[in-house]
Amino acid sequence: MDVKSMCEGYREEIIKRLGELVSINSEQSEAEADAPFGKGPKEALHAALDMLEKDGLKTVNLDNYIGYGEMGEGDQLIAIVGHLDVVPARREDGWNTDPYTMVEKDGILYGRGVSDDKGGVVASMIAMKVIKDMNIPVNKRIRLIMGCNEETGSACLKYYVDHDEQPDYGFTPDGDFPCINGEKGIMDAHYVSRKTNIIDIDGGTAGNIVCSSCYIVVEKCSFSKKKLEDYFNNNNIEFEVVDQDEAVKITVQGVAAHASTPTLGVNAISYLLTGLKEAGFQDPFVDFYCSRIGLNTNGEGLGLNLKDEYSDLTLNCGYIHMNDGVISGNIDVRFPVTMTGKQIVKACSKYLEDEGGEIIVDSTHDPLYYSPDSPLIQSLCDAYTEVTGDERDPLVIGGGTYAKGINNTVAFGCAFPDVDYKIHNANEWCPVDDLVKQVEIYVAGILKLLEL
Ligand SMILES: [Zn+2]
Repeated sequence: MDVKSMCEGYREEIIKRLGELVSINSEQSEAEADAPFGKGPKEALHAALDMLEKDGLKTVNLDNYIGYGEMGEGDQLIAIVGHLDVVPARREDGWNTDPYTMVEKDGILYGRGVSDDKGGVVASMIAMKVIKDMNIPVNKRIRLIMGCNEETGSACLKYYVDHDEQPDYGFTPDGDFPCINGEKGIMDAHYVSRKTNIIDIDGGTAGNIVCSSCYIVVEKCSFSKKKLEDYFNNNNIEFEVVDQDEAVKITVQGVAAHASTPTLGVNAISYLLTGLKEAGFQDPFVDFYCSRIGLNTNGEGLGLNLKDEYSDLTLNCGYIHMNDGVISGNIDVRFPVTMTGKQIVKACSKYLEDEGGEIIVDSTHDPLYYSPDSPLIQSLCDAYTEVTGDERDPLVIGGGTYAKGINNTVAFGCAFPDVDYKIHNANEWCPVDDLVKQVEIYVAGILKLLEL
Protein backbone atom coordinates (compact mmCIF):
# COMPACT_ATOMS: atom_id res chain seq x y z
CA MET A 1 0.00 0.00 0.00
CA ASP A 2 1.24 3.50 -0.70
CA VAL A 3 1.69 6.18 1.97
CA LYS A 4 -1.45 8.06 0.95
CA SER A 5 -3.75 5.05 1.38
CA MET A 6 -1.99 4.08 4.61
CA CYS A 7 -2.71 7.56 6.02
CA GLU A 8 -6.30 7.42 4.78
CA GLY A 9 -6.68 4.06 6.55
CA TYR A 10 -6.03 5.75 9.88
CA ARG A 11 -8.88 8.26 9.52
CA GLU A 12 -10.98 6.68 12.32
CA GLU A 13 -7.94 6.19 14.55
CA ILE A 14 -7.06 9.88 14.22
CA ILE A 15 -10.58 10.87 15.29
CA LYS A 16 -10.56 8.41 18.19
CA ARG A 17 -7.21 9.56 19.58
CA LEU A 18 -7.97 13.23 19.14
CA GLY A 19 -11.36 12.79 20.83
CA GLU A 20 -9.69 11.17 23.80
CA LEU A 21 -7.10 13.92 24.18
CA VAL A 22 -9.64 16.74 23.70
CA SER A 23 -11.81 15.23 26.44
CA ILE A 24 -9.03 15.94 28.93
CA ASN A 25 -9.15 19.62 29.92
CA SER A 26 -5.44 20.40 29.89
CA GLU A 27 -5.51 24.10 30.68
CA GLN A 28 -2.77 25.04 33.10
CA SER A 29 -4.01 24.86 36.68
CA GLU A 30 -2.49 24.94 40.13
CA ALA A 31 0.75 22.98 40.44
CA GLU A 32 0.63 19.85 42.55
CA ALA A 33 3.22 17.34 43.65
CA ASP A 34 4.09 15.45 40.44
CA ALA A 35 2.00 17.80 38.31
CA PRO A 36 4.03 20.98 37.68
CA PHE A 37 1.32 22.53 35.47
CA GLY A 38 -1.69 21.03 37.23
CA LYS A 39 -3.76 17.85 36.89
CA GLY A 40 -5.06 18.32 33.32
CA PRO A 41 -1.74 18.62 31.44
CA LYS A 42 -0.38 15.65 33.40
CA GLU A 43 -3.39 13.53 32.54
CA ALA A 44 -3.15 14.46 28.86
CA LEU A 45 0.55 13.53 28.84
CA HIS A 46 -0.18 10.14 30.40
CA ALA A 47 -2.93 9.44 27.86
CA ALA A 48 -0.68 10.41 24.93
CA LEU A 49 2.28 8.38 26.23
CA ASP A 50 -0.05 5.37 26.57
CA MET A 51 -0.97 5.74 22.90
CA LEU A 52 2.70 5.79 21.88
CA GLU A 53 3.48 2.84 24.14
CA LYS A 54 0.70 0.83 22.44
CA ASP A 55 2.23 1.79 19.07
CA GLY A 56 5.40 0.04 20.23
CA LEU A 57 7.50 3.12 20.95
CA LYS A 58 9.88 3.49 23.88
CA THR A 59 8.37 6.14 26.12
CA VAL A 60 9.89 8.45 28.69
CA ASN A 61 8.07 10.81 31.05
CA LEU A 62 10.25 13.65 32.31
CA ASP A 63 8.48 14.28 35.63
CA ASN A 64 5.19 15.28 34.00
CA TYR A 65 6.79 18.39 32.49
CA ILE A 66 7.14 16.77 29.10
CA GLY A 67 7.45 13.27 27.71
CA TYR A 68 8.33 11.45 24.53
CA GLY A 69 8.07 8.27 22.53
CA GLU A 70 10.91 7.10 20.32
CA MET A 71 11.40 4.66 17.44
CA GLY A 72 14.30 3.70 15.20
CA GLU A 73 18.02 3.29 15.67
CA GLY A 74 20.98 5.51 14.96
CA ASP A 75 23.21 8.20 16.39
CA GLN A 76 21.21 11.08 15.04
CA LEU A 77 17.91 12.25 16.42
CA ILE A 78 14.91 13.68 14.59
CA ALA A 79 12.54 15.39 17.00
CA ILE A 80 8.92 16.31 16.51
CA VAL A 81 7.89 18.68 19.29
CA GLY A 82 4.21 19.32 19.97
CA HIS A 83 2.20 20.37 23.00
CA LEU A 84 -0.72 18.92 24.91
CA ASP A 85 -1.70 21.91 27.03
CA VAL A 86 -4.42 24.23 25.75
CA VAL A 87 -5.57 27.80 26.31
CA PRO A 88 -8.74 28.17 28.39
CA ALA A 89 -12.13 27.55 26.79
CA ARG A 90 -15.54 28.19 28.34
CA ARG A 91 -18.90 27.44 26.81
CA GLU A 92 -20.02 31.02 27.52
CA ASP A 93 -17.17 32.45 25.42
CA GLY A 94 -19.25 31.68 22.33
CA TRP A 95 -18.73 27.95 21.90
CA ASN A 96 -21.65 26.21 20.20
CA THR A 97 -20.69 22.92 21.83
CA ASP A 98 -18.81 21.83 24.96
CA PRO A 99 -15.14 22.66 24.16
CA TYR A 100 -13.98 19.52 25.99
CA THR A 101 -16.24 17.08 24.16
CA MET A 102 -15.00 16.74 20.60
CA VAL A 103 -17.86 16.88 18.11
CA GLU A 104 -17.78 15.85 14.45
CA LYS A 105 -20.15 17.56 12.06
CA ASP A 106 -19.97 17.25 8.28
CA GLY A 107 -16.38 16.03 8.40
CA ILE A 108 -15.25 18.83 10.71
CA LEU A 109 -14.07 18.32 14.27
CA TYR A 110 -14.79 20.93 16.93
CA GLY A 111 -13.14 21.15 20.34
CA ARG A 112 -10.36 22.93 22.20
CA GLY A 113 -7.05 21.67 20.89
CA VAL A 114 -8.24 19.98 17.66
CA SER A 115 -5.88 22.35 15.83
CA ASP A 116 -3.62 23.77 18.55
CA ASP A 117 -1.96 21.48 19.17
CA LYS A 118 -3.51 18.11 20.00
CA GLY A 119 -4.38 17.72 16.31
CA GLY A 120 -0.73 18.29 15.36
CA VAL A 121 0.42 15.82 18.01
CA VAL A 122 -2.01 13.12 16.84
CA ALA A 123 -1.05 13.68 13.18
CA SER A 124 2.61 13.26 14.17
CA MET A 125 1.88 10.10 16.15
CA ILE A 126 0.07 8.56 13.22
CA ALA A 127 2.84 9.59 10.81
CA MET A 128 5.33 7.65 12.94
CA LYS A 129 2.91 4.71 13.02
CA VAL A 130 2.66 4.74 9.22
CA ILE A 131 6.47 4.68 8.90
CA LYS A 132 6.61 1.82 11.40
CA ASP A 133 3.82 -0.16 9.74
CA MET A 134 5.40 0.20 6.32
CA ASN A 135 8.70 -1.11 7.67
CA ILE A 136 10.53 1.80 6.10
CA PRO A 137 14.22 1.55 7.08
CA VAL A 138 14.97 4.12 9.74
CA ASN A 139 18.63 5.14 10.10
CA LYS A 140 18.00 7.82 12.74
CA ARG A 141 15.96 7.82 15.90
CA ILE A 142 12.60 9.58 15.59
CA ARG A 143 11.20 11.06 18.78
CA LEU A 144 7.81 12.63 19.36
CA ILE A 145 8.22 15.05 22.27
CA MET A 146 5.02 16.28 23.91
CA GLY A 147 5.10 19.27 26.26
CA CYS A 148 2.62 20.40 28.87
CA ASN A 149 3.28 24.15 29.14
CA GLU A 150 3.68 25.69 25.68
CA GLU A 151 0.86 28.18 26.05
CA THR A 152 2.01 29.58 29.37
CA GLY A 153 5.77 29.82 29.19
CA SER A 154 7.29 26.66 27.67
CA ALA A 155 8.92 25.71 30.97
CA CYS A 156 8.28 22.13 29.80
CA LEU A 157 10.66 22.47 26.85
CA LYS A 158 13.28 24.12 29.01
CA TYR A 159 13.02 21.12 31.34
CA TYR A 160 13.54 18.82 28.36
CA VAL A 161 16.57 20.74 27.10
CA ASP A 162 18.08 20.76 30.61
CA HIS A 163 17.61 17.00 31.04
CA ASP A 164 17.70 15.33 27.65
CA GLU A 165 19.15 15.19 24.16
CA GLN A 166 19.05 17.99 21.57
CA PRO A 167 17.89 16.92 18.12
CA ASP A 168 19.95 16.99 14.93
CA TYR A 169 16.82 17.89 12.96
CA GLY A 170 13.40 18.75 14.22
CA PHE A 171 10.06 20.30 13.59
CA THR A 172 7.15 21.47 15.67
CA PRO A 173 3.65 20.87 14.25
CA ASP A 174 2.45 24.09 15.89
CA GLY A 175 2.67 26.75 13.18
CA ASP A 176 1.95 27.00 9.49
CA PHE A 177 2.67 25.12 6.29
CA PRO A 178 4.83 25.07 4.28
CA CYS A 179 7.21 25.86 7.15
CA ILE A 180 8.44 28.78 9.22
CA ASN A 181 12.09 29.68 8.68
CA GLY A 182 12.00 32.86 10.73
CA GLU A 183 10.39 33.92 13.99
CA LYS A 184 10.75 37.56 14.92
CA GLY A 185 12.50 38.62 18.09
CA ILE A 186 10.43 39.81 21.03
CA MET A 187 10.95 42.70 23.42
CA ASP A 188 8.68 42.75 26.46
CA ALA A 189 8.35 46.06 28.25
CA HIS A 190 5.95 47.85 30.56
CA TYR A 191 5.15 51.46 31.31
CA VAL A 192 4.41 53.16 34.61
CA SER A 193 2.91 56.56 35.29
CA ARG A 194 2.22 58.33 38.54
CA LYS A 195 1.33 61.67 36.99
CA THR A 196 -2.26 61.53 35.95
CA ASN A 197 -5.71 62.98 36.51
CA ILE A 198 -7.35 59.69 35.59
CA ILE A 199 -9.48 58.33 38.44
CA ASP A 200 -9.51 54.74 37.21
CA ILE A 201 -8.59 52.82 34.07
CA ASP A 202 -8.59 49.12 33.28
CA GLY A 203 -8.51 47.06 30.12
CA GLY A 204 -7.17 43.89 28.52
CA THR A 205 -6.49 40.40 29.78
CA ALA A 206 -3.15 39.28 28.38
CA GLY A 207 0.00 40.94 27.12
CA ASN A 208 0.04 39.03 23.84
CA ILE A 209 -3.48 39.97 22.73
CA VAL A 210 -4.69 43.29 21.30
CA CYS A 211 -6.82 44.85 24.06
CA SER A 212 -10.49 44.39 23.12
CA SER A 213 -12.17 46.29 25.95
CA CYS A 214 -11.09 49.17 28.16
CA TYR A 215 -12.79 51.62 30.51
CA ILE A 216 -11.66 54.87 32.05
CA VAL A 217 -13.15 57.03 34.81
CA VAL A 218 -12.37 60.77 34.65
CA GLU A 219 -13.86 63.95 36.06
CA LYS A 220 -16.92 65.32 34.36
CA CYS A 221 -16.29 68.44 32.23
CA SER A 222 -12.58 67.57 31.85
CA PHE A 223 -13.13 67.08 28.11
CA SER A 224 -15.64 67.80 25.36
CA LYS A 225 -18.20 65.02 25.29
CA LYS A 226 -19.30 66.03 21.82
CA LYS A 227 -15.75 65.88 20.43
CA LEU A 228 -15.19 62.49 22.04
CA GLU A 229 -18.38 61.05 20.56
CA ASP A 230 -17.52 62.49 17.14
CA TYR A 231 -14.05 60.96 17.33
CA PHE A 232 -15.37 57.49 18.14
CA ASN A 233 -18.15 57.70 15.57
CA ASN A 234 -15.77 58.89 12.84
CA ASN A 235 -13.47 55.95 13.59
CA ASN A 236 -16.28 53.38 13.85
CA ILE A 237 -15.45 52.67 17.47
CA GLU A 238 -18.06 51.07 19.70
CA PHE A 239 -18.29 53.01 22.98
CA GLU A 240 -20.47 53.86 25.96
CA VAL A 241 -20.43 56.94 28.20
CA VAL A 242 -22.08 56.66 31.63
CA ASP A 243 -22.33 59.45 34.21
CA GLN A 244 -21.24 58.61 37.77
CA ASP A 245 -21.96 61.58 40.09
CA GLU A 246 -18.99 63.94 39.61
CA ALA A 247 -17.26 61.55 37.25
CA VAL A 248 -17.90 59.88 33.93
CA LYS A 249 -17.05 56.33 32.89
CA ILE A 250 -16.19 55.72 29.24
CA THR A 251 -15.93 52.18 27.88
CA VAL A 252 -14.53 51.33 24.46
CA GLN A 253 -14.86 47.99 22.68
CA GLY A 254 -12.03 47.06 20.33
CA VAL A 255 -11.24 43.88 18.45
CA ALA A 256 -8.88 41.23 19.83
CA ALA A 257 -6.07 39.82 17.70
CA HIS A 258 -2.73 38.21 18.41
CA ALA A 259 -0.05 40.68 19.47
CA SER A 260 2.11 39.62 16.52
CA THR A 261 -0.56 40.86 14.09
CA PRO A 262 -1.80 44.04 15.79
CA THR A 263 -3.17 45.55 12.58
CA LEU A 264 -5.80 42.79 12.52
CA GLY A 265 -7.19 44.12 15.80
CA VAL A 266 -8.54 47.38 17.16
CA ASN A 267 -6.81 48.41 20.37
CA ALA A 268 -9.39 49.65 22.89
CA ILE A 269 -6.75 51.31 25.13
CA SER A 270 -5.19 53.25 22.27
CA TYR A 271 -8.49 54.48 20.82
CA LEU A 272 -9.81 55.42 24.25
CA LEU A 273 -6.76 57.51 25.19
CA THR A 274 -6.35 59.04 21.72
CA GLY A 275 -10.05 59.94 21.69
CA LEU A 276 -9.80 61.64 25.06
CA LYS A 277 -6.77 63.64 23.99
CA GLU A 278 -8.60 64.75 20.83
CA ALA A 279 -11.53 65.75 23.05
CA GLY A 280 -9.30 68.11 25.02
CA PHE A 281 -8.54 65.99 28.09
CA GLN A 282 -5.35 67.41 29.67
CA ASP A 283 -3.18 64.77 31.26
CA PRO A 284 0.57 64.03 31.43
CA PHE A 285 0.04 60.27 31.16
CA VAL A 286 -2.36 60.52 28.23
CA ASP A 287 0.14 62.79 26.42
CA PHE A 288 2.90 60.29 27.18
CA TYR A 289 0.88 57.34 25.90
CA CYS A 290 -0.28 59.12 22.77
CA SER A 291 3.20 60.35 21.81
CA ARG A 292 5.01 57.07 22.51
CA ILE A 293 2.36 54.60 21.36
CA GLY A 294 -0.96 56.11 20.30
CA LEU A 295 -2.61 54.37 17.38
CA ASN A 296 0.71 53.26 15.84
CA THR A 297 1.41 49.56 15.79
CA ASN A 298 4.80 50.02 14.10
CA GLY A 299 6.74 51.43 17.05
CA GLU A 300 7.12 54.85 15.42
CA GLY A 301 6.69 56.83 18.66
CA LEU A 302 9.53 54.85 20.24
CA GLY A 303 11.95 55.27 17.34
CA LEU A 304 11.26 51.68 16.33
CA ASN A 305 9.75 52.07 12.88
CA LEU A 306 12.10 49.35 11.58
CA LYS A 307 11.87 46.72 8.90
CA ASP A 308 14.04 44.34 6.93
CA GLU A 309 13.52 42.40 3.71
CA TYR A 310 11.40 39.81 5.53
CA SER A 311 9.08 41.72 7.84
CA ASP A 312 8.18 44.90 9.76
CA LEU A 313 8.45 45.53 13.48
CA THR A 314 5.12 45.45 15.34
CA LEU A 315 4.06 46.85 18.70
CA ASN A 316 1.04 45.99 20.84
CA CYS A 317 -0.37 47.08 24.20
CA GLY A 318 -2.29 44.21 25.71
CA TYR A 319 -3.47 45.54 29.05
CA ILE A 320 -3.59 48.55 31.33
CA HIS A 321 -4.35 48.72 35.06
CA MET A 322 -4.46 51.33 37.82
CA ASN A 323 -3.60 50.60 41.43
CA ASP A 324 -3.20 53.19 44.21
CA GLY A 325 -3.02 56.00 41.68
CA VAL A 326 -0.32 54.30 39.58
CA ILE A 327 -1.06 53.34 36.00
CA SER A 328 0.82 50.46 34.40
CA GLY A 329 0.51 48.45 31.23
CA ASN A 330 2.51 46.25 28.90
CA ILE A 331 4.19 46.71 25.53
CA ASP A 332 4.88 43.73 23.28
CA VAL A 333 7.33 44.43 20.44
CA ARG A 334 8.12 41.89 17.70
CA PHE A 335 11.21 42.82 15.72
CA PRO A 336 12.62 41.62 12.37
CA VAL A 337 14.73 38.45 12.19
CA THR A 338 17.92 40.21 11.08
CA MET A 339 18.03 42.44 14.20
CA THR A 340 19.07 41.76 17.76
CA GLY A 341 17.41 42.56 21.08
CA LYS A 342 20.35 44.83 21.92
CA GLN A 343 19.82 46.92 18.78
CA ILE A 344 16.14 47.34 19.56
CA VAL A 345 16.74 48.42 23.14
CA LYS A 346 19.32 50.93 21.92
CA ALA A 347 17.02 52.28 19.21
CA CYS A 348 14.25 53.12 21.67
CA SER A 349 16.44 54.24 24.58
CA LYS A 350 15.93 57.99 24.05
CA TYR A 351 12.16 57.68 24.00
CA LEU A 352 11.58 55.79 27.21
CA GLU A 353 10.87 58.58 29.63
CA ASP A 354 9.28 61.98 30.11
CA GLU A 355 7.33 63.70 32.87
CA GLY A 356 4.19 61.71 32.00
CA GLY A 357 5.62 58.24 32.37
CA GLU A 358 8.40 55.75 31.98
CA ILE A 359 8.90 52.61 29.91
CA ILE A 360 10.94 49.77 31.39
CA VAL A 361 12.32 47.01 29.16
CA ASP A 362 11.77 43.66 30.92
CA SER A 363 13.34 41.19 28.51
CA THR A 364 14.36 40.58 24.93
CA HIS A 365 14.37 37.32 23.00
CA ASP A 366 16.46 37.23 19.86
CA PRO A 367 14.84 36.04 16.63
CA LEU A 368 15.10 32.63 15.06
CA TYR A 369 16.27 32.42 11.48
CA TYR A 370 17.19 29.57 9.15
CA SER A 371 18.15 30.28 5.56
CA PRO A 372 15.53 29.10 3.04
CA ASP A 373 18.44 27.21 1.43
CA SER A 374 19.31 25.23 4.55
CA PRO A 375 18.77 21.45 4.31
CA LEU A 376 16.17 21.49 7.08
CA ILE A 377 13.98 24.15 5.43
CA GLN A 378 14.40 22.72 1.95
CA SER A 379 13.48 19.21 3.09
CA LEU A 380 10.32 20.32 4.86
CA CYS A 381 9.16 22.66 2.07
CA ASP A 382 9.80 19.90 -0.48
CA ALA A 383 7.74 17.44 1.57
CA TYR A 384 4.86 19.90 1.69
CA THR A 385 5.01 20.56 -2.05
CA GLU A 386 5.34 16.88 -2.91
CA VAL A 387 2.12 16.01 -1.06
CA THR A 388 0.03 19.08 -1.87
CA GLY A 389 1.39 20.21 -5.24
CA ASP A 390 1.47 23.69 -3.73
CA GLU A 391 4.76 25.53 -4.17
CA ARG A 392 5.30 28.17 -1.56
CA ASP A 393 8.17 29.96 0.10
CA PRO A 394 8.79 29.40 3.81
CA LEU A 395 7.39 32.04 6.14
CA VAL A 396 8.65 34.57 8.65
CA ILE A 397 6.17 35.13 11.48
CA GLY A 398 5.83 37.33 14.54
CA GLY A 399 4.61 34.61 16.84
CA GLY A 400 6.96 32.39 18.78
CA THR A 401 6.90 28.59 18.78
CA TYR A 402 8.82 25.83 20.55
CA ALA A 403 11.40 26.20 17.74
CA LYS A 404 13.02 29.06 19.65
CA GLY A 405 13.64 26.82 22.64
CA ILE A 406 15.34 23.80 21.08
CA ASN A 407 18.13 23.34 18.53
CA ASN A 408 17.76 22.67 14.80
CA THR A 409 13.98 22.86 14.88
CA VAL A 410 11.41 24.91 12.96
CA ALA A 411 7.62 25.04 12.84
CA PHE A 412 6.17 22.85 10.06
CA GLY A 413 2.35 22.99 9.85
CA CYS A 414 -0.05 21.93 11.04
CA ALA A 415 -2.16 24.89 9.77
CA PHE A 416 -2.73 25.03 6.02
CA PRO A 417 -2.28 28.41 4.31
CA ASP A 418 -5.13 30.91 4.60
CA VAL A 419 -7.33 28.77 6.85
CA ASP A 420 -8.49 30.28 10.14
CA TYR A 421 -8.86 27.33 12.50
CA LYS A 422 -10.03 29.63 15.32
CA ILE A 423 -6.97 28.79 17.35
CA HIS A 424 -7.28 30.29 20.88
CA ASN A 425 -10.88 31.22 20.02
CA ALA A 426 -14.36 29.77 20.46
CA ASN A 427 -15.32 26.89 18.15
CA GLU A 428 -11.75 25.86 17.31
CA TRP A 429 -12.10 23.42 14.42
CA CYS A 430 -10.24 21.18 12.02
CA PRO A 431 -11.49 19.15 9.06
CA VAL A 432 -10.68 15.44 9.30
CA ASP A 433 -9.37 15.72 5.72
CA ASP A 434 -6.79 18.27 6.90
CA LEU A 435 -5.61 15.94 9.65
CA VAL A 436 -5.19 13.06 7.20
CA LYS A 437 -3.28 15.39 4.86
CA GLN A 438 -1.09 16.52 7.78
CA VAL A 439 -0.19 12.89 8.47
CA GLU A 440 0.81 12.43 4.86
CA ILE A 441 2.97 15.59 4.89
CA TYR A 442 4.62 14.59 8.18
CA VAL A 443 5.46 11.14 6.79
CA ALA A 444 7.04 12.84 3.75
CA GLY A 445 8.86 15.33 6.01
CA ILE A 446 10.31 12.63 8.25
CA LEU A 447 11.41 10.59 5.23
CA LYS A 448 13.23 13.64 3.81
CA LEU A 449 14.96 14.26 7.14
CA LEU A 450 16.01 10.58 7.26
CA GLU A 451 17.85 11.19 3.97
CA LEU A 452 19.97 14.06 5.34
ZN1 LIG B 1 0.20 25.83 19.99
